[in-house]
Amino acid sequence: MFTKKLELDDFMNGLARRNPNEPEFHQAVREVAESVIPYINHHQKYIDARILERMTEPDRIIIFRVCWEDDDGHIRVNRGYRVQFNNAIGPYKGGLRFTSNLSLDTLKFLGFEQTFKNSLTTLPLGSAKGGADFNPKGKSDREVMRFCQSFMTELHKHIGAHTDVPAGDIGVGAREISYMFGQYKRLQNEFRSVLTGKELAYGGSLIRKEATGYGTVFFTREMLKAHQKELEGKRCIVSGSGNVALYTAQKVMQLGATVIAMSDSGGSFLIPSGMTQEHLNHLIDLKEKQRGRISEFAEHFDCDYYPDKKVWDFPCDIAFACATQNELELNDAKELVKNGCIALAEGANMPTTMEASHYLREAGILFAPAKAANAGGVAVSGLEMSQNSMRLSWPLEELEKRLEDIMFKIHQQSKRYGQQSDNTIDYIRGANIAGFTKVADAMLSYGF
Ligand code: GLU
Repeated sequence: MFTKKLELDDFMNGLARRNPNEPEFHQAVREVAESVIPYINHHQKYIDARILERMTEPDRIIIFRVCWEDDDGHIRVNRGYRVQFNNAIGPYKGGLRFTSNLSLDTLKFLGFEQTFKNSLTTLPLGSAKGGADFNPKGKSDREVMRFCQSFMTELHKHIGAHTDVPAGDIGVGAREISYMFGQYKRLQNEFRSVLTGKELAYGGSLIRKEATGYGTVFFTREMLKAHQKELEGKRCIVSGSGNVALYTAQKVMQLGATVIAMSDSGGSFLIPSGMTQEHLNHLIDLKEKQRGRISEFAEHFDCDYYPDKKVWDFPCDIAFACATQNELELNDAKELVKNGCIALAEGANMPTTMEASHYLREAGILFAPAKAANAGGVAVSGLEMSQNSMRLSWPLEELEKRLEDIMFKIHQQSKRYGQQSDNTIDYIRGANIAGFTKVADAMLSYGF
């Protein structure tokens, strides 16, 4: 007996019934469903096994209380999460995000995206996402330490080198990873590859910090090459100034293009002639060591600063969206097209709204979707796990070469599955289907 073919609206209605009031999760699933349902409908085995329903339901969700003491001696209570989404092709893997307004909706969208992204890396990595509604900004070092220790006191029961390997994300950098790793080690009395994004001194990998940004630029270069265009000489804008944005800017400059604007939640700066090495070094130092603001950067160099403004209105050839989800809306997309932008690459997760993404693609802009373009970070996390298992560390050149190869393969797979009848490439469709097949086939082979 055959199960009947999938229909997008029916599928999305069912998902909305099972997951009410989760707009970001619905958005992420809809984007995947739009491209994989026609593919699934050509393969009865996926329909019969209800693979898409199964892939949109996390394996489990862990929610816990995190109790810690602030510097004034007051007890504070936050909520911690880990969404273990899918371990069909490897241990659960994905970042931890610490932001004040974190919701389960956001974590389900991120965990779902991670399934496809991790599959695209070609490495054996399952998917997960987690974090807490805790904002490290404005907290003292000791407060962050106590929070991380308390968070790990609960989380350590659910993770492990072959079970679930968290890493950083927004609000979680090397400092937070170190405090959490220290606590895991104390509790388990085991030195394991249970977190990635560690510091070099205790098992971290070279270029892990740079990997997401570098990978985004490598992918973009491949995408341009496939369309007989090149990155060199192009004017680029980069939204954000966190880890992903900073190293996107660095690689863009190393490969001979210019970065004319960057931003943070307070506003943007514009340097029409392009950032110099001195600008970039100062910004990296300001953001990583002093946790400073873009306004301070602009003041220091006396360059144009636009409070409360995003970067999208500045005319450019290539735009890199490296801040956060849904930061690029329909009006921004129109502005990019009007100003002659030829490509958009998503360094952040789902930075483009559904309407903006449709608009850009219809306008013929080359679109590098997050799952493919920003997979470099988790890919180097996978390489960190490999190095830890072998108890050795690879040199910088080798890691960069491996990252370049992985991004090349991700581009190839996305191109292969995204090839359209009119000879254009739909990278969203390509990345979704390429990511889907590997996980779906593994799930099929396990039975249910
Ligand atoms: N948070 C990053 C991502 O979204 C990295 C995850 C990891 O390295 O596990 O892919």
